Amino acid sequence: MSLISIENYQKSIKGNHIYKMSIFAQKVKNMSLSKELETRSNGSCELCEANPANNIYSVPHATGSDLDSNIHLCDKCLAQIEITEELESAYWSAFLPNTMWSEVAAVQVMAWRMLNRFRDETWAHDALEMLYLNEDDLEWAKASGEHLTNVEDNLHRDCNGTLLIGGDSVSLIKDLDVKGSSINAKMGTAVRNIRLDPNNSEFIEGKVDGQNIVILTKFVRKIN
Ligand SMILES: [Zn+2]
Repeated sequence: MSLISIENYQKSIKGNHIYKMSIFAQKVKNMSLSKELETRSNGSCELCEANPANNIYSVPHATGSDLDSNIHLCDKCLAQIEITEELESAYWSAFLPNTMWSEVAAVQVMAWRMLNRFRDETWAHDALEMLYLNEDDLEWAKASGEHLTNVEDNLHRDCNGTLLIGGDSVSLIKDLDVKGSSINAKMGTAVRNIRLDPNNSEFIEGKVDGQNIVILTKFVRKIN
């Protein structure tokens, strides 16, 4: 107390109070959003309509209200959307041609984006030919730019073609010569908690001998 004036003390108390209030407001907002989503989805994933919805997913590039921008998703749909597990065409083909007609624009937008990931496959191509989105929703759907790229090109895969995600552990399949350093990167060395290079699917980063190095994905094997 002796080091700050009463005026500053009052200010800091007030600041703290406002901070606490805003956290409280945020929590109340999330609670009401989750209740509204629960009502809309009946507790089921709004994409597959089969699994329980454990996640609130904010559909990227939305401009509408919270309820219009978020959807209720099961763990599997979420993992496939974020590609933390291998994409399964058979899984999506079972429900996307139906749920793409959802009355919820955010669900339609995600259906459109997922159909585009599989657009080289007949079932998805045919569904896209039929699907009609109004102009605003189509613009929203396209804002992610995913329909212009091949998702597969951006995935990181190890020497066996196994999907790598951030946080994975890998082992080196050959001795690596780290230029300009004395780092000992022998075959079999485990590299934990890897980071994926977002700009290059052939590169990952990880710590070897306590130092961060860039490693080519073709020289590693996933171990967890
Ligand atoms: Zn689902």
